[in-house]
Amino acid sequence: MRYCARLAASAFVALIAPLSAEAQQPLEIRSVERVQSCWDRGDGVLTGRGLEIDTAPSRRTGWTVPRGAANVVTLENNGPPDQRLDIVFVGDGYTEAELPLFRAQVDAQVQALFQIEPFKSYRSHINIHRVDVISNESGVDHDPTLGVLRDTALDMGFWCQGNSDIERSLCVDSFKARSYAALAPGDEHVVALANSTKFGGAAFFGTLISCVSAASSSPHATLHHELGHSLFTLEDEYATGGPAVYSGPEFARNNISIHDETTQTQLQTKWWRVMGQSLPGFDGPTGAYEGARYSRLGIFRPSPNSMMRSSARPHNLIGLQNGVVALNRFDGDPFPLIDDVTQPFLGEFVGHDHEFFVTPLHPSTHELTIWWQLGLDVIPGQTGTTVRLCELQLQPGEYTLIVKLRDDTPWIFDEDVRQQNLFSNWAWRIIIEDQPADRTADGVIDFDDVLDFVVDFRSQDASADLADPAGVLDASDVLAYLDRFTSPCP
Ligand SMILES: [Zn+2]
Repeated sequence: MRYCARLAASAFVALIAPLSAEAQQPLEIRSVERVQSCWDRGDGVLTGRGLEIDTAPSRRTGWTVPRGAANVVTLENNGPPDQRLDIVFVGDGYTEAELPLFRAQVDAQVQALFQIEPFKSYRSHINIHRVDVISNESGVDHDPTLGVLRDTALDMGFWCQGNSDIERSLCVDSFKARSYAALAPGDEHVVALANSTKFGGAAFFGTLISCVSAASSSPHATLHHELGHSLFTLEDEYATGGPAVYSGPEFARNNISIHDETTQTQLQTKWWRVMGQSLPGFDGPTGAYEGARYSRLGIFRPSPNSMMRSSARPHNLIGLQNGVVALNRFDGDPFPLIDDVTQPFLGEFVGHDHEFFVTPLHPSTHELTIWWQLGLDVIPGQTGTTVRLCELQLQPGEYTLIVKLRDDTPWIFDEDVRQQNLFSNWAWRIIIEDQPADRTADGVIDFDDVLDFVVDFRSQDASADLADPAGVLDASDVLAYLDRFTSPCP
């Protein structure tokens, strides 16, 4: 059993309106969040913008997911849900007869997802589930034109269900989508596919949902971009859709900045560490390029082009780093790099005769860096997945044995980010009561150790009392020491 402090998964931002003095009205519960909508303006470069809207109207109506409402299938099972990033596909506007279409579209999305980085290399960190949501009618709202309404399970619709002046803004009722996704074994992230050929998409920052039109001209590139928002917490890097000049404050998200290269470097902020760097296969070189987040001037982006700027581009180095971090977060699991390990955490082990192991979770490209410590001291030469305590020749005493693991991927350039997200450790309490074969504690088992035993034996020292009966030094203690001398690990 893992010792996992799982965090509550509720991502809803519930705003409860304050009651006026005389009011006895019911509380108004809203789920307001930022929704990002972007689309290809025709030349590959994206345009669009973000909205603040209540994405969960069904929450106020007391709606609940019907029992036994949907078949759930795990398409990609790489480990226990609390130790993996679980992505759930739900569909809207698919009648029962159209479920084969939905399944084929999900399969194609999954296949395309694992062809791009960092999903490809970190596939072992991800589970994929599919919930076969059945709608009464085929298609989604406001398709092909505003005002066309359909009776569907998740209330998906263009024009963000009438909440937006952006036709391509394809929204879902986040409460319904999340409720269906909760039928899956794990549901950190949700992808809602709309049964439509009309281009559209959206990313929900609060409820962690990506919406995609399943049969538009570029459904895969759309999903990759939306996941850049909702999963990798990236802002848009294109320069249209908002005021031409931005003059507001600095942004919280790390892939845009009001500061140019010189100022970022002076302030040591945003992506200053990686200025000038490139990696094959990713957009770059990294610099501060003016024009991002809907404005042509006043906001800088990290690369000339990128997935957050154009359709079907790779990530730049900032997007890549954010992605690696996102694919290493599993429901708040405090030991994300550890798949299995000698239990329990801080468990007490008495004597030399124990072997400790750790099974790391690593990407397909490389093993993790592993080292073992006794307290603060690194144990020389121990960089594998197991340690035999007898081989350490510990003198009597109490110790804390620690294994530490780190993902040294070059896709992380900020060592603080690595330390916070791609580092893990596990510890045990060790109590050694007997002398080891290396009695002189000089790191080698040799004749000096035999002499040390003989001296202790002749002086009736308790440290030479190795065998039963206890309290009596006799030939059995000598034989016990010789056993330990010839084979320190039994
Ligand atoms: Zn976008």
